[in-house]
Amino acid sequence: MTDWEGPLSEAFERATTYLQGLPVRRVGPRATAGELRQVLGGSLPQHATDAQEVIAHLAKGVEEGLLPSGSGRFFGFVFGGATPAAIAADWLTTVWDQNAGLYAAAPAAAVVEEITADWLVELFGLPSGTSVGFVTGAQMANFTGLAAARHAVLRNHGWDVERDGLIGAPPIRVLAGAERHDTVDRALRFLGLGTSCIVPIAVDEQGRMRADRLAEELTTDQPTIVCAQVGNVNTGAIDPIEEICRRAHERNAWVHVDGAFGLWATVSPALQPHVRGIENADSWATDAHKWLNVPYDSGLVLCAHPEAHRAAMSVRASYLIHDEHGERDALEFNPEFSRRARGFAVYAAIRALGRDGIAEIVDRCHAMARRFADTLAANGVDVLNDVVLNQVLVRFGNDDELTRNVVRAVQHEGTCWMSGTTWRGKAAMRISVSNWTTDEQDVDRSAAAVLAVAERLR
Ligand SMILES: *Cc1c(COP(=O)(O)O)cnc(C)c1O
Repeated sequence: MTDWEGPLSEAFERATTYLQGLPVRRVGPRATAGELRQVLGGSLPQHATDAQEVIAHLAKGVEEGLLPSGSGRFFGFVFGGATPAAIAADWLTTVWDQNAGLYAAAPAAAVVEEITADWLVELFGLPSGTSVGFVTGAQMANFTGLAAARHAVLRNHGWDVERDGLIGAPPIRVLAGAERHDTVDRALRFLGLGTSCIVPIAVDEQGRMRADRLAEELTTDQPTIVCAQVGNVNTGAIDPIEEICRRAHERNAWVHVDGAFGLWATVSPALQPHVRGIENADSWATDAHKWLNVPYDSGLVLCAHPEAHRAAMSVRASYLIHDEHGERDALEFNPEFSRRARGFAVYAAIRALGRDGIAEIVDRCHAMARRFADTLAANGVDVLNDVVLNQVLVRFGNDDELTRNVVRAVQHEGTCWMSGTTWRGKAAMRISVSNWTTDEQDVDRSAAAVLAVAERLR
């Protein structure tokens, strides 16, 4: 009989030890790449090894090379951690091993994604009937949303891009903020549009697209996609989305919103005014692995025009079984074919937290970001942005070198972990509060550590 218990109980033991250790663990890797190669490497295994032994060896080998992004004192990039229900559902997703491309291959996964899709649309306040794809991340959500946009704007100009491709098609213009995320450019490359189709729209001092500048570019009758942003990756700034949608729609342009983390602001009654009018867009990209704190990888694409979404993604093949009763086939909404049943973890996360719990995470992260900014500012550190969401940009002594050195030294010190960035030509430390466990104590300890490091280096 197969020994399931050995490797799985080994994994369980190690998982709970890791998770319970997060609050006291040093926030940063300890091992170098060379040391990790030393422990984990060796020649290609010729013979079998017991599964439990393999798991123990793997877990031990990677231990010193893990970046504890689940810690309440991890503020790097915009990562977020993972809630217990989401982690457990993700484990079972692996155990069940469903190929969730088709209803026929994974009925429960399809129904769970259908239910979760409806919850998400309601949670974000988007038009009912909005279609949803459970993708790997906001990169592929941007790709999928922009694929639907490409279909729709070309169809409106009498061109079938799925059949005829882009050679000879009317050229598409993509109007996007100068501070857009790089995954937008990358999605446009994947879509065969290239980056030269982008018309960068000037942004204000917080990185928000200027709607007046957008209006100046919205004058032609060319197929046009407007790519707005809710949650600038540096400042957290939110584009004036209501006005962008209004002006774009007057010119028959499609509005795609990159809301990788910012779309979750719609769930917070306190933050909702910042995203007013977001429901008027045509497609939205967001992540569950960021602010909802679902384990990697988990992104979401939502589209107000399911027919465009489907036209861009769907596939028919003679050997596939498409459900006769209209059950959900995920490959109608996803760029993948075979795929992991990502909906289970999102379902569990939403069910465990409820709307109130999700709003509470968003509000607390926002409050903790403000607390971080206020504490540092009170001690003479320059805060470069308005803290509208969960992002804080700070700079030390108005000095690039000192700022970069503080970032490096803080990473080395180990109380907390944050990354650096360059904002408007100046080096900055970037603090992102995206973890569901981050509390006042985490912020106060981390701010004290940052201030101590900066004092030492000054
Ligand atoms: C993180 C991020 C992305 C990319 O998301 P992935 O989940 O890494 O694919 C895109 N846009 C913005 C604004 C982001 O913050």
